[in-house]
Amino acid sequence: STFTYQFDTATYKGSSTLNTGLFINGEFIEPSEKGTIDVINPVNGKLITQVSAGTHSDIEVAVQAAKKAYKEHWGLKVSGDERSKLLHKLANLIEASADELGALETLDNGKAYSHARNFDVMGCVAVLRYYAGWADKIQGKTIQTKDDKLAYTRHEPIGVVGAITPWNFPLAMLIWKIAPALATGNTIVLKPSELTPLSALRLCPLINEAGFPPGVVNIVNGFGHTAGQAISENMTIGKVAFTGSTVTGRKVMEAAAKSNLKPVSLELGGKSPAIFFDDVDMDQAVKWAALGIFFNHGQACTAGSRIFVHEKIYDEFIKKFTEHAQSLKLGDPFEPTTYQGPQVSQGQYDRIMGYIESGKQEGATLHAGGDRFGHEGYFINPTIFTNCKPHMKIVQEEIFGPVAAVMKFSTEEEVIGLANDTMYGLACSVFTQNIDRALRVAHKLEAGTAWINFTNSPEIGMPFGGFKQSGIGRELGEYALEHYTNVKAVHVNL
Ligand code: NAD
Repeated sequence: STFTYQFDTATYKGSSTLNTGLFINGEFIEPSEKGTIDVINPVNGKLITQVSAGTHSDIEVAVQAAKKAYKEHWGLKVSGDERSKLLHKLANLIEASADELGALETLDNGKAYSHARNFDVMGCVAVLRYYAGWADKIQGKTIQTKDDKLAYTRHEPIGVVGAITPWNFPLAMLIWKIAPALATGNTIVLKPSELTPLSALRLCPLINEAGFPPGVVNIVNGFGHTAGQAISENMTIGKVAFTGSTVTGRKVMEAAAKSNLKPVSLELGGKSPAIFFDDVDMDQAVKWAALGIFFNHGQACTAGSRIFVHEKIYDEFIKKFTEHAQSLKLGDPFEPTTYQGPQVSQGQYDRIMGYIESGKQEGATLHAGGDRFGHEGYFINPTIFTNCKPHMKIVQEEIFGPVAAVMKFSTEEEVIGLANDTMYGLACSVFTQNIDRALRVAHKLEAGTAWINFTNSPEIGMPFGGFKQSGIGRELGEYALEHYTNVKAVHVNL
C-alpha cells in the first residue's frame, strides 16, 4: 500500500507517494501476518496513515536477505573505495531530498521543520560523508613479537548487523547506524520506532537509487516487543546497535545474551547536569541552558535537564532563564519561526504531565509552564521547576520533555557530588570563565561527553555514548568503527 502526502506551507510545497510496506532485499513487500502501525499527527492527534508492521518471520526474511547480500555482493567482496562511493551517492540523494525528508520528519514527529531539515537531515548527509571517508581506511596493525614472527591484525566486518532506533531523531538515528555499518562492510536490518516510521520509508528508494545491492540495507517497521525483540534474539545477526531507553536497552542485552551472545552497543537515556558557576556570561548562559533542555522539545538524550546554578547568580539566572523560556515560540512546526512543536505522542504527553504533577507533589516550585499549549495536539509549555531536591523523581528520572529541574549550589565540590548523583552518565556541561575549574570539573563528572561553555551539540568526529546506565559503546567518530568489526589476530611463522 502507499501513502500520498502533500504539504502546503510556506516552507515546503509538493506531493509525493511513499510505499508503506517492508523494505526487504531492495523491494517493498507486505508483512507475512496482517499488521499495521497507526501514524498519528502530533499537532492534532489525527491519523495520518497506516504503515505495515513486520513481525518475527519478516525479520527472519530480512536477515536471510542481508546474509545472502553479505556473502554474494558485499562484505569482503566489495572494496572500501566502492563502499565509499555508494555512501557518498546516498548522501547526495538525501541532500537533494532534504526538503521532503525534513517535511516528513516534521509531520511524523512534530519537530520544527527548520530543525528537521537543517539539523536532522543535513546531519545525516554529513554523517554519511564522514563514514564514506572511513570506508577505505579500515586498518589493522603489525605487531612486534618476541621471536620475530609476522603478526598483524585485521578488522573484518561482522556480517549481518541489527539496529533498533527511537523516535526523537528518527532518520538521524538510522543513519548513525547505517553509515558505520556499511562503511565497514556489514549488511544491516533496521527497525525504526513505531512512533515515527515515515522518513525511513522515504529513505528506502534512495538506497536503491544510490546503487546498494539488494539486501545490503533492509528496513522493517514494526513494534518493539515483536520486530524489535526478533532482532535482539536473532541467531544470525552478529551485533545489535540500539538507541532508546535504558529499560528497553536492558531487554535488548538480555535477549542478545540468551540467544547467540551477540555484542550490543546501547545508546540509552540521560539526566545530564548543566552547571553554571558565578562567573558566567549571563546572556550566553541562559541561552545555552534553554537550548540544553528545550531543544527538540526536551526529547534529546543529552538534554541538560538538571540545571545547577551558583547561589550568587541564582536569582538573576532564574529571572532571565524564565524570560527566555517564555519567549520560545510554540505552534505549527511548519511555521518557519516556530521553535517548539508538539511532543511526539499522547503517551509521551501523558508521561511528561505525570512528571510535572509529581514535581508539584514532591514539593518543587513550578516556576514556569507546566501546562498544555493550545487546545489540541501534544504541546507542552516550556516548564521550569525550582527548589528541586536530589531525591525527587523529576531530578532522578529521565522525563524526555521540556521540563527543567533547577537547583542551587555553593561550592565546586558540592555541585560535583550532586551532578554525579544519578544512575545516568551520558553528558554534562560546565559553564565558567575559569579554565582550570572548567577542566577540573569536566574531568570529575561521570559522563561520556563533557561540554564546556556550550551544550547539546554532538560532533561527528567525536565519540558519543554513555557512562553508567546511559549505555555501552560509542557511536560517531573513529570509535564507532570498532563496534562494527571483529578484530582478527594473524600469526605467521616465517
Ligand atoms: P524505547 O526504548 O521505548 O524504544 C526504542 C526502540 O526500541 C523502538 O524502536 C522500540 O520499538 C524498540 N523496542 C521497544 N521494546 C523493545 C523490545 N522489548 N525489544 C527490542 N526493541 C524494543 O525508547 P524511545 O521512547 O523510542 O526513545 C526515547 C529514549 O531513547 C530515551 O530514553 C532517550 O534518552 C533515548 N535516546 C538515547 C540516545 C543516545 O544516543 N544515548 C539518543 C536518542 C534517544
